[in-house]
Amino acid sequence: MTTQVTEAVSLKRDYYHLIINGEKVESSNGKTIKTYNPATGELVAEVAKASQEDAERAVLAAREAFDHGKWRKYPINRRSQVLNKIAAIMRSRFNELVELEILDTGKSLAAAQGQVSQAIEDFEFYAGAIVGHRGVVNNMPGQFHNFTEKEPVGVCAQIIPWNYPLMMAAWKIAPAIAVGCSVIVKPASLTPLTAIILGEICLEAGVPAGVVNIVPGSGSEVGNYLVEHPKVNKVAFTGSTPIGKDIMAKASETLKRVTLELGGKSPNLVFEDADIDAAVDGSLFGIFYNSGQSCEARSRLYVHEDIYDEFITKFVEKTKKLVLANPFDKGTHMGAIIDQAQLEVIDGFVKSAIEEGAEILAGGKPAVVEGYEGGFWYEPTVIANVNHDMTVVKEEIFGPVVVVMKFKDEKEAIKLANDTEFGLGSAVWSKDGARATRVAKQIEAGIVMVNCPFSAFPGTPFGGYKQSGFGRELCIETLDLYTETKSIVSYFGSRPINPLGV
Ligand code: NAP
Ligand code: MG
Repeated sequence: MTTQVTEAVSLKRDYYHLIINGEKVESSNGKTIKTYNPATGELVAEVAKASQEDAERAVLAAREAFDHGKWRKYPINRRSQVLNKIAAIMRSRFNELVELEILDTGKSLAAAQGQVSQAIEDFEFYAGAIVGHRGVVNNMPGQFHNFTEKEPVGVCAQIIPWNYPLMMAAWKIAPAIAVGCSVIVKPASLTPLTAIILGEICLEAGVPAGVVNIVPGSGSEVGNYLVEHPKVNKVAFTGSTPIGKDIMAKASETLKRVTLELGGKSPNLVFEDADIDAAVDGSLFGIFYNSGQSCEARSRLYVHEDIYDEFITKFVEKTKKLVLANPFDKGTHMGAIIDQAQLEVIDGFVKSAIEEGAEILAGGKPAVVEGYEGGFWYEPTVIANVNHDMTVVKEEIFGPVVVVMKFKDEKEAIKLANDTEFGLGSAVWSKDGARATRVAKQIEAGIVMVNCPFSAFPGTPFGGYKQSGFGRELCIETLDLYTETKSIVSYFGSRPINPLGV
């Protein structure tokens, strides 16, 4: 059913282990997770399923590695070398990583290639960034001196979603280990494979035992156990907003540091002075990339009334031309949906829109893909005749579904864009640079893409306003979120200080 993209020894296996304390191990109770290829519905592999006992072993290993191990004491350039080596090994196994990611997620070749490339670049970025990460010397009165140090925050639980399994693992592991933390990664149950391989690659590159542990298992059991564990110092979570809220509440019990990258309902504003063809192409990518299963998917499309008809005609024409086929084919534009449950969620949103009087301009139902009837596919869908009271406009769908609306001027565009509880991505299409900047500055979102379909580049802060979470990943600032700042105050006068005058 699939085309091999590599002849090299495959990372593809029938069975994958947990990684705890530098070893590939079985789960304590022998349970496994079965992972499927969403494009075909076929079994890909079985994976040891971590229990709470395994999570406990991982916490103790991470704690020991952090408290008594050598990793955080290495000179920075040595940690930097290891991160570069992780990147080099990943690069040498690029095609295999791409293949494994496609098998586990059903995403298209182009999407998987881009994400594996970026995962590699994340390690390279932090290998460089860590060398320049430092504390400061502050001005002090008289004969006092103060300097601050950046100390690794400790043991970090990192919980990741299924939409970008390898890339999200890289976003989390790279900055954390760069500063000297130890991590316990909990991949999504639906897509554990590439995170496990990344854990193996970390060991091969010279990351000491216990620094990177990988424990696929249930979110509500293992994920929750890590969030509540008193020996864990920080939780970094990417996933849905409701689970993010739950994690924040539970982490407060032990005052853990928390980073949350959550859901979105990102607006895409096309002004009358935009390059219409570029805006059409960028907007297609903005929603249908990764089959819409993207936290920054631009799922609310607003078009100025003067160009609405022309834009929508072109946008719908191209939507109907999108190819859903073998994910390994270069010509495939859109891959599968992650599983049957998510397919039903997407279809439920579309049906609710139809019931509320919306108009389907393209798609609107599960797709039948020849040769892939056992998989989970949804037609790229465009919905018009909607308003801001409708569920389909308010809630994140996490699928290939976009709602389109008109606006009459800049003020209304900004008001509509901000009329959401989320604030992750956004896009502005206009050839007027002053307008684009003016609008960008008023949008309540962590990322504004101006005449540009892309948002995630190593070095560019990524994260949300409002209920899309807080903390920024993929950038220098992330290093601060994996460190504590220690302020060291010293006195260098020749006369002893006697503050109480006793
Ligand atoms: P999810 O259901 O929130 O799950 C995310 C992760 O959390 C999974 O590993 C899950 O484990 C785990 N989990 C579930 N319940 C938990 C609990 N009570 N305690 C601790 N961990 C728990 O989200 P998803 O459906 O996988 O991913 C889609 C969501 O992620 C969307 O809302 C999307 O917008 C968001 N997302 C955001 C970003 C961003 O950067 N802002 C990026 C990607 C995705 P199981 O797999 O075992 O359930
Ligand atoms: Mg899978």
